Amino acid sequence: MPLNKQSGNMYPWVTHTWNVIKGRCPHDCVYCYMKRFPQKPFRFDEKEFRTNLGSGNTIFVGSSCDMWAEEVSTGWIMKILEHCKKYPDNTYLFQSKNPARFYQLYDILPKKVILGTTLETNRDTTNISKAPPISYRSFYMWYISNFRHVDTMISIEPIMDFDLGLFVEMIDKIRPKFVSIGADSKGHNLPEPPAWKVEQLIIELKEFTEVRVKENLNRILEGNNHKEGGGKP
Ligand code: SF4
Repeated sequence: MPLNKQSGNMYPWVTHTWNVIKGRCPHDCVYCYMKRFPQKPFRFDEKEFRTNLGSGNTIFVGSSCDMWAEEVSTGWIMKILEHCKKYPDNTYLFQSKNPARFYQLYDILPKKVILGTTLETNRDTTNISKAPPISYRSFYMWYISNFRHVDTMISIEPIMDFDLGLFVEMIDKIRPKFVSIGADSKGHNLPEPPAWKVEQLIIELKEFTEVRVKENLNRILEGNNHKEGGGKP
């Protein structure tokens, strides 16, 4: 089977995606782009192991369903990691809203990995997903980044209103290699920060990490919020 080239609103720095676990993601985020398609219960697609992952690629493994969700069996994850290890010249992006499982399975990860999570905001009081809360995600990313010395990244997408100082402090503790920031592309009516706050966030993050701004953030930076979550102090 051919490897899927990245397309659409994916990260421009990812070359390909590879998904073995398919179907309805247990995290059920309200803004999930996969909800635009008919979804079956999640399942393990053995046929994907015919895929040659090649070399020199940066592959987002599990881009369409969070393969690290609690509901996914450890045996399934181990099989996926074993296949990745057959192609050691690639860099594998594993991004999950349940990074505790990176910690549990760290010793069997392929050599070249980037581990990431999504922090849409610093606030736990969001009601947009069944995924583990933001504080839990940030704690495990902090631990992995600081005590395992592996490359990490944070995705702030879709960005939601946040507390500037607390959010910067949360990310500073994680010390990610880079932060990717993007906005809701499909009008899910999320509480969004005003442009000035996003601009300030970018300035403050750049003091200790690389910031990769996605094109879809321009809507907010130009002042076109879906629903503004906060005013200027
Ligand atoms: S974790 Fe990702 S794949 Fe799963 S529902 Fe949320 S946005 Fe979709």
